[in-house]
Amino acid sequence: MAANQEPIEITDPQEDRYATLRAIPWWDQARVQAARVVVVGAGALGNEVLKNLALLGVGTLVIIDMDRVEAANLTRSLLFRAGDAGRSKAEAAAAGVRAINPEVSAISLHADVTREVGLGLFRRADVVIGCLDNRAARLAVNSACWQVGRPWVDGGLGVLDGMVRAFTPPEGACYECTLTSTDYALLNLRYSCPPGFRLVAGREPTTPMAAAIIGAMQVQEAVRLIHGQTVRGGRSVYYSASGPRLTPVEHRRRADCTAHHRYEPIVELPLHVERLTLGQLFAAAHAHTGGPAVLYLQRPIVTFLSCPDCGQHELAARPYDTVVPDFVPCPQCGALRRFDVTGTLHNDPDLAAIPIAQLGIPPLEILSFRTVEGWRYLELSADADAMFAHREEDGARC
Ligand SMILES: [Zn+2]
Ligand SMILES: [Zn+2]
Repeated sequence: MAANQEPIEITDPQEDRYATLRAIPWWDQARVQAARVVVVGAGALGNEVLKNLALLGVGTLVIIDMDRVEAANLTRSLLFRAGDAGRSKAEAAAAGVRAINPEVSAISLHADVTREVGLGLFRRADVVIGCLDNRAARLAVNSACWQVGRPWVDGGLGVLDGMVRAFTPPEGACYECTLTSTDYALLNLRYSCPPGFRLVAGREPTTPMAAAIIGAMQVQEAVRLIHGQTVRGGRSVYYSASGPRLTPVEHRRRADCTAHHRYEPIVELPLHVERLTLGQLFAAAHAHTGGPAVLYLQRPIVTFLSCPDCGQHELAARPYDTVVPDFVPCPQCGALRRFDVTGTLHNDPDLAAIPIAQLGIPPLEILSFRTVEGWRYLELSADADAMFAHREEDGARC
């Protein structure tokens, strides 16, 4: 057969796409495609991290962000276009990921990571990558990752510099171990500031160059974790453009740190958060604990509002931080009402009909129950199927 008559070899397009990665001796594309990475924050850094993960063909990306795209984001965010203004950053980033690599399942969660994301989502991650601009969100990601024993890679940006640090529970220091008394003071300042402070925090000056460098370093750590390579946690690397210079820093694990608690064992319950009442939750919990159990909430709630003057009494059953000044005056006499606030609940018949979602419990949450025999951790596992299956369909349409 003459050379020009040789049959054309039809190769698997998937083989072609990742051929140069497969040429790396230790690279395992099947492992990368099976991986699930949670990216918290879809700002400048999140965009760079997601771009790299999409190029590599990481199988499932969960993108969490509570903000919306603004014109000022366009100087540093590869995945956003001018037409995305006003759109959820998580959604716009997910669409950008699918445009780069349609084989990636990109799931977007327009949510506040400090209270609207169930722990079960972190439990299902191979790696969590933090692309955040504030300590409160980092603390939330840190405590979630230690509770379910998942590694996380934090990144932070300056103007031309930045830092990357990996945490690998249960070994080494955690993010909270690295905080200084100044960090705690700033954290308290943030909590005591009016809501507008959040906007200021999100507008720290930075550049696409710093985001590209730090985002790439974070994904390198994530790739090593996905491949099961040893990544030593509790270490930071600072990158400085002047020099340029990379400075490694070892963090000491604090013996008194409260963030190292691991939830185990975790029992998967075939329950959805939606429409589940407190009475039904306690019935399911009792079936597993075999006795009375007290539910410890992540967010304190207001159970009742009562008026000391006229005796007006009202069931509230909502997170304390959602109580606005309008709730304070008594609707009957205008006096200041008393709030009953609690962080724990027992099987109270007065509250049995309350939907647990009303208490601020997110989908796929892992709930902590205290029993006479110790802690029990029960996950609302039925939410996982809906979350992953539904969003993957969304991805396939794009
Ligand atoms: Zn710690
Ligand atoms: Zn009253």
